[in-house]
Amino acid sequence: PQTPRTPLIAGNWKMHLDHLQAIALVQKLAWSLKDARHDYRQTEVAVFPPFTDLRSVQTLLAADKLSLELGAQDVSPHESGAYTGDVSAAMLAKLEVTYTLVGHSERRQGHGESDDVVGRKALAAHRAGMVPMICVGETAEDLEEHGAAAIPLAQLGAAIAELPADADFVVAYEPVWAIGSGQAATPEQAEQVARALREQLRDLRDDARAAATRILYGGSVSSQNVAGFLRQPNVDGALVGGASLQADEFSRIVQFEK
Ligand code: PGA
Repeated sequence: PQTPRTPLIAGNWKMHLDHLQAIALVQKLAWSLKDARHDYRQTEVAVFPPFTDLRSVQTLLAADKLSLELGAQDVSPHESGAYTGDVSAAMLAKLEVTYTLVGHSERRQGHGESDDVVGRKALAAHRAGMVPMICVGETAEDLEEHGAAAIPLAQLGAAIAELPADADFVVAYEPVWAIGSGQAATPEQAEQVARALREQLRDLRDDARAAATRILYGGSVSSQNVAGFLRQPNVDGALVGGASLQADEFSRIVQFEK
């Protein structure tokens, strides 16, 4: 059956590339997608550079009218004030940032972000007019103890608890054991959790929201394995880390063929 959801391929650069390198990568990417674009009609492409690169990338996208969306890797849960080092949702929205990751496992683990903080970040992003990309996923130990879906389901429930019922968001299912390991989940594993996440959205929201929400897979996605994930009925795109840092490879991923 035809899915009404536009596929989304998102590149999470993590802490790589200064603003000059960022410009170079986006230029290369635009070049390599230029001819491909019309063939890959519906696929939406987004890049998530470090904060210090956002202004440069935004200027380039606007000047060259490139059809790439801009994303941030994190956002403050606070609106403004004495929060040294934080970057607010309003500041990002002003830079034409469309998406922001919230709850990436590297923030949950390395920066002690709780489900509660992730939920507040999602709300802050929504209030500023951005779309939170809510990252969920189980560790290898979680997988042993609880199976694949339990932790992602709990994380998603907490992350959207404070969001208004009509708020738009994207879900990125990223098993922690698959991130940066070269050991991607199988398409079937990804589909199983994506289907459970969508069922939960049906319970927590309604059929329409569940059907409209994009659920991405992330964790060692490459041009070799991306098509297998996108072939799954409940997987609507990919969140790509390492492989998004090379223009040619990322461009091949964007041009996945089912
Ligand atoms: P990876 O990272 O593609 O390098 O595994 C994915 C992510 O952390 O978003």
